[in-house]
Amino acid sequence: MQTGKDASVTPFHSQFSNMEDERGHNLLRKDESKGSDCREKRETRISKENLYMVLALWMERFPLQSSRVQQKFKKVGVVFVLPSDRVLAADCSRDGVHGVARVMVNHCGKLEGCKVFVSRKPCSLCAKLLVQSRVSRVFYLPIEPESENKGELARADNLFKVSPVGQSVFVPCVEEGVLAKDEKRLPEEITPDDIGECRDQLFKEWWSAEWIKRAKVCLPWPCLDDSMENQVESDFKSLMKWIAFVKAPMDKGVAFKKVKVTEAAEAAEVKCDRDAEHYPDFNMAFHMMIFAKMLARQTDDPKKGVGAVILNGTENKEVATLGWNGFPSKALFGEFPRASDNDDARETKFSYVIHAEQNALLVRNTKDLTDGVLFVTKLPCDECAPMIKLSGVKTVVVGETIEGSTPKGGELSYYLIREYIKEEIIACYQMETQKTPTKRLGSDPETRKKMKSSDGSGMDIGSQTAINFD
Ligand SMILES: [Zn+2]
Ligand SMILES: [Zn+2]
Repeated sequence: MQTGKDASVTPFHSQFSNMEDERGHNLLRKDESKGSDCREKRETRISKENLYMVLALWMERFPLQSSRVQQKFKKVGVVFVLPSDRVLAADCSRDGVHGVARVMVNHCGKLEGCKVFVSRKPCSLCAKLLVQSRVSRVFYLPIEPESENKGELARADNLFKVSPVGQSVFVPCVEEGVLAKDEKRLPEEITPDDIGECRDQLFKEWWSAEWIKRAKVCLPWPCLDDSMENQVESDFKSLMKWIAFVKAPMDKGVAFKKVKVTEAAEAAEVKCDRDAEHYPDFNMAFHMMIFAKMLARQTDDPKKGVGAVILNGTENKEVATLGWNGFPSKALFGEFPRASDNDDARETKFSYVIHAEQNALLVRNTKDLTDGVLFVTKLPCDECAPMIKLSGVKTVVVGETIEGSTPKGGELSYYLIREYIKEEIIACYQMETQKTPTKRLGSDPETRKKMKSSDGSGMDIGSQTAINFD
């Protein structure tokens, strides 16, 4: 799990693992001594804490964020995790309100004991609020703080010093094994170059070598020397690569098109016209689908990972909940083959897995999901569809092409969602991937120019390609 080297970079990692799932963790530790073989089979996925941190970072790109709040403060993405290990909120700075402050106002009374993942070291206002709300600990990435003003940084540190709330710089790290596994699952048309390019773009957006040089004096980080700097930089790069595995294929160009269900032969057939309606907010769909796909990689069932996230509110969209498919929390590996690739275990584990949509609905931070939008990586099954309908969600955006799919797939069936689409109870959009956009993109000078001028934002690129390939 953690090598000695990592532990010296960030002692919080190992501390975390114990907090996360004590029983499962202890079991893993025992097995480690038996050799790497059985380890490889079960836990090759990003740690939950790294996932929360990357989601916080990704929320900086939420389409409704304001790039700067009150001018001198950088945008910040936040994820609050309840003591029960459920995500309470994911948000970012917007509407002139700091990310942390938004969660404080929207979820007051629920914050005590939360673990807080903020993309950047909080400013003194946010520190004040965090300390007052009695969260348990605040983690932030080693990237530039929300405010670089020295006085601000010192004030924030003083606030934490006099309170029981801990703050820690969090050095993300995705192990090689996890990256290697993700690489194997990439679609054929995605080359290592595509991944490298995407990773570098993300890295450039967030990493500043100049800042890390100053980090030792600006942060309570006594051990940051040259070799550690390099390690921290390379660990951060591994996280960017982890995002790139999801994002690079979507950068090739995707569209979110409305599907229809027609009464064809025996099975209701899902159809999508060439000129079908698009999901009205491409940037939002693009952003949230990456979010959902990142969640899917936390699954207990690597062969069928599903991620789901629900946005509610018509104008000021809020992340109401998120989930992935897995066994009941705190279940042991011995009880269920957590994160196992073993096919033999499939049948026995199948009916025990709690679907991503179900998990999301169980932990949502608001009861009212009227007009909510569900972004889910795969089409909801007959177990989940009635629950989605009941929750008030009216729109489902699916992260795969469902046109022509069959209503009976393996152990699960998908009749109800078809019925709801046909009866217009639910509007459903499918994500279509552009198969051969690379050449056409390159050959179109107009598109190239747009790509260059979009300041490295993949969302803009995606948006352009989607329009170009309609
Ligand atoms: Zn702030
Ligand atoms: Zn389901």
